[in-house]
This record gives sequence, structure tokens and C-alpha cells, in this order.
Amino acid sequence: MKIDISKIPLGESELNFEVTSEELGLGKEDVGVPEPLAVSIHFSRLERKIIAQGRLTGKVILTCSRCLKPFEDRIDERFSFVIELVNTAPSLVCLDDEDVVQASPYGAVVEIKSELHDTVVLSIPMMPICSEDCQGTAPGKWKIYTDERR
Ligand SMILES: [Zn+2]
Repeated sequence: MKIDISKIPLGESELNFEVTSEELGLGKEDVGVPEPLAVSIHFSRLERKIIAQGRLTGKVILTCSRCLKPFEDRIDERFSFVIELVNTAPSLVCLDDEDVVQASPYGAVVEIKSELHDTVVLSIPMMPICSEDCQGTAPGKWKIYTDERR
């Protein structure tokens, strides 16, 4: 997930790749990622900066907050960042919390792992529900209970 700035041409270009759960450093407590997620980044390179607009899609396994069962869901998230090209020595630049980083146009490399990691984690709802009419951990029980009271 390192972007080599010298490989991004002036103007518009596109980069597509896949990332696995391990590569993103996702823990089991975060979210299950059964197969690699697809990443596609569109770059607009100008004289002094590169504007990157990305999309991250794929399958995730969530745990239903009602019935506690795992279920499959899809994420389709957007992210963006800007690389300002400044005259410094080439180095490895990490895109952490900021969405704007400064890098040398002469061979700098930008690490976007944490950007992708956070995009996945933030896409997960606080209380995932497997389906709108999920009955919870004991389906049927509540129905019988209310029937008996009638
Ligand atoms: Zn459920």
C-alpha cells in the first residue's frame, strides 16, 4: 500500500489493487474480511500537488448486535487525500490522521495503510443488524410469552 510518487504521471491516472485483512492490520475484534478488498484510486497530478480520490469495496463479516450471529455485508467507502509536492529529500511519508501530506516529487513514497485501515473501521456501524426483522437471540420465545398472557 505504498504509493511511489515518481510513478504517478502528470494529469489523470488510476491505480487499482487489492488488500487483505492482514495487510491492513485489522484485528479480529475490528471486522472479518474473508477475501481481499478492492481499492481503486484516481489521481489528478498537477504541477505542485496530487489529488487522490479512492474507493474501497468488498465483503466484510459483521456480528449482529441483536442475535450475535455473524453475517455478511458489503462495504463501499470513499476516501481522499492530497499530496503536496515540496522540494525536500525523497523519503517515506505516512498518511496518518491528516488528509494532506507533503512529499518530495523526486522519488518519495507515501504509505496509505492507516488511511485504508481507518476507512474500513469507520465504515462499520456501531450496532450492526443482520436484517431489519432480526428476532434477537431467542426467536419465537417472545411470541409464545405474549400469546400465553392473552
Ligand atoms: Zn441478527
